[in-house]
Parts: sequence; C-alpha cells; structure tokens
Amino acid sequence: MKLERSALIWTCAPKRWATALRSRVAAREGIIQRALAALRDEVGDELVLIADTCLCEYTDHGHCGHATESGEIDNDRSLEMLAETAVSQARAGADIVAPSAMMDGQVHIDQQPFAL
Ligand SMILES: [Zn+2]
Repeated sequence: MKLERSALIWTCAPKRWATALRSRVAAREGIIQRALAALRDEVGDELVLIADTCLCEYTDHGHCGHATESGEIDNDRSLEMLAETAVSQARAGADIVAPSAMMDGQVHIDQQPFAL
C-alpha cells in the first residue's frame, strides 16, 4: 500500500442531515460511504482511501457520539454505531478507517469486526 497517493475522506454535513443518526442504516449509507464508493469506482486501486470514522457527520448537536433523549452521550451505544460505521466504510471502499470520535474504547471496538 503506497500512502503517498492517498485521500482522507471526511465531512461536516449540513444540520438537515442530522436525523440520519437515528437510524443505523443511515450510517451505512452516509455521505462518506457514498463518496468512498464513487471514488473507488473512479480511481480503482490508484489511490489509498482513508475514512474518517465518526458520528458527528450525522448529529445536530455536533458531538462525535450518540446523545440520549436527555442529552447525555451514550458511550456504549456510540461504540456500536462507530463499529458499524467502520465496517460500512470498509465495504464502501476504504483501505483505512481512521477513528476520530474520541469515545472511550473506539479504537478497540473498531478493530473487532476486522479481527481474523
Ligand atoms: Zn466527529
């Protein structure tokens, strides 16, 4: 893998997309996943694709984790969603997933779906 030809895909989505976080499916079909798939189709293996793995693209509060109805950050729920996001990003074409949510345990939970 040659990292000198790489791109980090991340976004700050408009607030109108924020309701997407309420559905796990939305993370799989998120803007980063769609961008990864489009780039992979366009450039093949010529570019290493790195995906920002976070939830803030889908929150209306701007935090990188899932918030409960009372506004508390639910770390465990956030980890589940982040792991699903990492898998969906890999399936969409990411060569590397880059955990950035800073939730306790994110790096560990992101690795589990990819363990042999
Ligand atoms: Zn974030």
